[in-house]
Amino acid sequence: MKYRPLVVASDGVRAMMESALTARDRVGVQDFVLLENYTSEASFIENLRKRFKENLIYTYIGSVLVSVNPYKDLEIYTKNHMERYRGVNFYEVSPHIYAVADNAYRSMRTERKDQCILISGESGAGKTEASKKILQYYAVTCPASEHVQTIKDRLLQSNPVLEAFGNAKTLRNDNSSRFGKYMDIQFDFKGAPVGGHIINYLLEKSRVVHQNHGERNFHIFYQLIEGGEEDRLRHLGLERNPQQYQYLVKGNCPKVSSINDRSDWKVVRKALNVIGFNEDEVEELLNIIASVLHLGNVQYGGEEGTVCITSDTQIKYLARLLGVNGTVLTEALTHKKIIAKGEELMSPLNLEQASSARDALAKAVYGRTFTWLVNKINTSLSYKDDSSKHFSVIGLLDIYGFEVFQNNSFEQFCINYCNEKLQQLFIELTLKSEQEEYEAEGITWEPVQYFNNKIICDLVEEKFKGIISILDEECLRPGDASDNTFLEKLEDTVGGHPHFVTHKLADGKTRKIMGRDEFRLLHYAGEVNYNVNGFLDKNNDLLFRNLKEVMCMSENKILTQCFDREELSDKKRPDTAATQFKASLAKLMEILMSKEPSYVRCIKPNDSKQAARFDEVLIRHQVKYLGLMENLRVRRAGFAYRRRYEIFLQRYKSLCPETWPNWQGKLSDGVSTLVKHLGYKPEEYKLGRSKIFIRFPKTLFATEDALET
Ligand code: ATP
Ligand code: MG
Repeated sequence: MKYRPLVVASDGVRAMMESALTARDRVGVQDFVLLENYTSEASFIENLRKRFKENLIYTYIGSVLVSVNPYKDLEIYTKNHMERYRGVNFYEVSPHIYAVADNAYRSMRTERKDQCILISGESGAGKTEASKKILQYYAVTCPASEHVQTIKDRLLQSNPVLEAFGNAKTLRNDNSSRFGKYMDIQFDFKGAPVGGHIINYLLEKSRVVHQNHGERNFHIFYQLIEGGEEDRLRHLGLERNPQQYQYLVKGNCPKVSSINDRSDWKVVRKALNVIGFNEDEVEELLNIIASVLHLGNVQYGGEEGTVCITSDTQIKYLARLLGVNGTVLTEALTHKKIIAKGEELMSPLNLEQASSARDALAKAVYGRTFTWLVNKINTSLSYKDDSSKHFSVIGLLDIYGFEVFQNNSFEQFCINYCNEKLQQLFIELTLKSEQEEYEAEGITWEPVQYFNNKIICDLVEEKFKGIISILDEECLRPGDASDNTFLEKLEDTVGGHPHFVTHKLADGKTRKIMGRDEFRLLHYAGEVNYNVNGFLDKNNDLLFRNLKEVMCMSENKILTQCFDREELSDKKRPDTAATQFKASLAKLMEILMSKEPSYVRCIKPNDSKQAARFDEVLIRHQVKYLGLMENLRVRRAGFAYRRRYEIFLQRYKSLCPETWPNWQGKLSDGVSTLVKHLGYKPEEYKLGRSKIFIRFPKTLFATEDALET
């Protein structure tokens, strides 16, 4: 490299500058903050489109990574790529998930601060793939010893196991995660991964007993049926045909072209071994999976009031696989124990009640086994070296994005509430870190206008008058409480809230646009109508007492850990689903607040899972719901670009005779000399303690172009 004097653009130079510009025209800018028209959604999407067309799926907004699912394998995840990003400054290489991973890792090492990487986006946008890429990056690039290798293997192998039990084929994604996941990776002082810990959120248990058309139950059921060894299936009383099982036929979708259940079964079996399951544990686990299928095939008949189970084959299998007494189980599946005047009575269930008791048992058994599985993985990942508990942590959050469907229920309510909380965190942490950076650099903070969604979080979670409290109140109220009385209570209590709407207007008239059984929340990302049907049941999530009692008597070693006898003696009702979720989110916020965040925002390019299709309407929707324009606005409110002095000098020193080949004095003086030579006007930039801040992208582009000429 040699010193290049700045020339007033002659025709030849201009032509060269134009060719550089053409490249930018073709592939767009790799950081949205460099968009000239940064408030325009159209330019934002145009930039995404240009890059997507060139297979450039990653783009930054400052340090936030935006990723568009390519729906095809790109050659960008090789070991060479990992090496390219290792230890290299964020901005010196093109945007990549590895850059985010590496940056978090280096910050953790050099600043000794725990990190977290928050991945969000709607179903099918690529969150789980992104989190797996990050994990692989650490597994390959971090130092290893024999013990560390075991942990690395277990960290990697926890994925196929959790996906088998927690993922399913949905209309949106063939491998959709039906639970939220936060995973800590723990590193020792040498930077080697030595342990891990997983927290799971809100598994979609209803899928165990029902699937929509074109969807499936959790993968594990099909894997076991398709891949399980002959004698194992015989022992479990299973046939090699998923269509035999009521819990697998609802979606009418036994096979998926992108999924090979048989080979996935082998992967899962191996992964269970790596995690440390012994053969007995595998057997106990599969006994439970099989018993869920048998439960689904329990059919009821008989007259109203004398409901009975029509075939006892299933009960025989269930008794053996669950390790319970068949007669007691049969009674519990057909009767409800009530305590009246201190006396226990068995009251017969009607057909509908019996079916829902059976389904409740299947959901409880599966849901609790899933939690057990996560605990088991945690034990296997736990940091064994007690002599020094000091480790640093990188947390990975792979959690459901905002959901807006035709019909939104309790699940969407919880998921969208979760996203409101994450947005709160984002606001606090991003604005805080912007502000801190300005302060650290001695630059005056310029306040940024933004919408603070705390008002919506409060509406949902406030004690006594928030939506969750009102829902719980209705769940606990004996008598005529129903989904409708819940809605009425909402209207009475939060009816006047600016972010809450129902069909009722203040003057007693009604709005036509909304159903009578709906309420609408004006979320930070947009409006969502929720249908209240099923809210009370889903929030109660009750299992009849006598079913609990049967399960507490189980001889299956996993189930004895899932159904604790103490639960029976406990007079206090267990917390409702929403309250538990609220508490687990509060804990999650605490965990995340104590860490330095990085963000990955995933976008799904089309609804048909096709490569190279950029559906603009769908993408615009996601840009809105992910809050990307607001994100960009906040990031651009002050300065578009900032760089450490040494990096800035290194890159541009050839443009000024006084800084070339090496500047000997103070770095800030060097940068000052350089930018004055380049003709920067005082309003275009500021010099902080260690960084230069440039207000407009065009200033930087001119300098970049000068470099190209
Ligand atoms: P959900 O919320 O339903 O769990 P998700 O955001 O986790 O969705 P993924 O399962 O990560 O979505 O991605 C869906 C599918 O998209 C993957 O199975 C894969 O086929 C494809 N995909 C995602 N990311 C990439 C990528 N970086 N490269 C190639 N294909 C990808
Ligand atoms: Mg996923």
